[in-house]
Amino acid sequence: MNEHDHPWIILYYRKTGKYALNVLTGTLEQAISNCALPVELLFANNNTELTSLLQSDSCQRRKTVVCWSFYSPDFESVVSELGRLKETTKTGNILHIAGGVHCSARPAQTLQAGFDFAAVGEGETIIAEIARRLAGGQALRGIQGLHYLDGQTWVNQHKGRLIDLDDYPPCGVEHKKFGAIEITRGCLYGCRFCQTPHFHKARFRHRSIDNILHYVRIMKQNHLRDYRFISPSSMSYGSEDTTVNLEAIERLLASIRAEIGPQRRLFYGTFPSEIRPEHITPDSLHILKKYTDNDNLIIGGQSGSEAMLRTCRRGHDVDVIVEAVTHALRFGFTPNVDFMYGMPGETQQDADASIRLAQKLAAMGARIHNHFFMPLPGTPFQYATPAPISRKTLQALNLLHSRGHAYGKVIPQIELSRKLQHQNKTPAMTEKTSNSKGSD
Ligand code: SF4
Repeated sequence: MNEHDHPWIILYYRKTGKYALNVLTGTLEQAISNCALPVELLFANNNTELTSLLQSDSCQRRKTVVCWSFYSPDFESVVSELGRLKETTKTGNILHIAGGVHCSARPAQTLQAGFDFAAVGEGETIIAEIARRLAGGQALRGIQGLHYLDGQTWVNQHKGRLIDLDDYPPCGVEHKKFGAIEITRGCLYGCRFCQTPHFHKARFRHRSIDNILHYVRIMKQNHLRDYRFISPSSMSYGSEDTTVNLEAIERLLASIRAEIGPQRRLFYGTFPSEIRPEHITPDSLHILKKYTDNDNLIIGGQSGSEAMLRTCRRGHDVDVIVEAVTHALRFGFTPNVDFMYGMPGETQQDADASIRLAQKLAAMGARIHNHFFMPLPGTPFQYATPAPISRKTLQALNLLHSRGHAYGKVIPQIELSRKLQHQNKTPAMTEKTSNSKGSD
């Protein structure tokens, strides 16, 4: 193969999916360097950049794979974008591969919408094998976790293998694709509206402190000032169950602080992660205060109704939310508390209870982050009907927003929720399970 004809893998950095693409970049860099694979990595940060790469003469000469990663609410816009792109870049050399939680829950729908392959489950082993096969001029069919259509039949290739986080980088060092470091994957809490435990596994897998420090050091060498971390439940680091392992968390935060020194900033239990309310105790806050630069914490509250907390299997009650806010404020953190309206079965009494709790927490000094329920594919609530939100509830939310006590995009989310309900009704396809290898 002439070096000018090396296959391309383009990572498409749309508005969302950045963290997943950073992980894929790191995995590809590792696979390419370990096996000296003749594959070139490219990046597109928007549609214009992607279109121009795909229309270039260079692209016509080689096999090109475009990697997309998106969430369920973006599915509709992704599909229209893909359709327009395929119209303007007609060539048999380009394969579009989708990944992420939506695609994992709805591979057949993703393929029917126009993607050539749908990566199901964790992407690391899938993308590494794609790179190896592209380099060897082999077909991509037959890779575990990489689903495709054979005519009108959906070929189910099972799931990509669950990985050990320490075996794969959390970022693309060579291409400087840095961001928050994923320290924990999977979640053992089974909140019924959430895709996390159903996409990965309902247990925690943690990145080791040594491995985290290795990447913190690299980020420091690259002059990064802020250090953030991705976890489904920040205070579950080092724990196998619902208990908090404060010793592990303190070791983690103390080592990072020692590595980055006082002049760089360490954020934990805030964007892009959150903390469960029962994990916010004087002892855990003492550690956060000692090592982090946070001025706020993100706390999952979800509802002021005991009945709704039970329905969605949150595993905590309303009093715990109030206690978490009380403790956080006492330690000088602004609590940002997530609320969700429209959960299946929510009555006006339940919504009233949430509004009363939100008003109470706001009066104490918390900020309320409002959401509207979405029936996310792959969750136990995927086929449930969202409860309608009343004018009375909307007025109460507006008041909280207008006084600066609350934020969030409830109205657009009501529309997205309706669209998801519609998408969830896509008829099932004929399916076959196969490991046979064929051509693209
Ligand atoms: S909402 Fe949070 S705690 Fe609940 S399952 Fe999802 S990630 Fe875990």
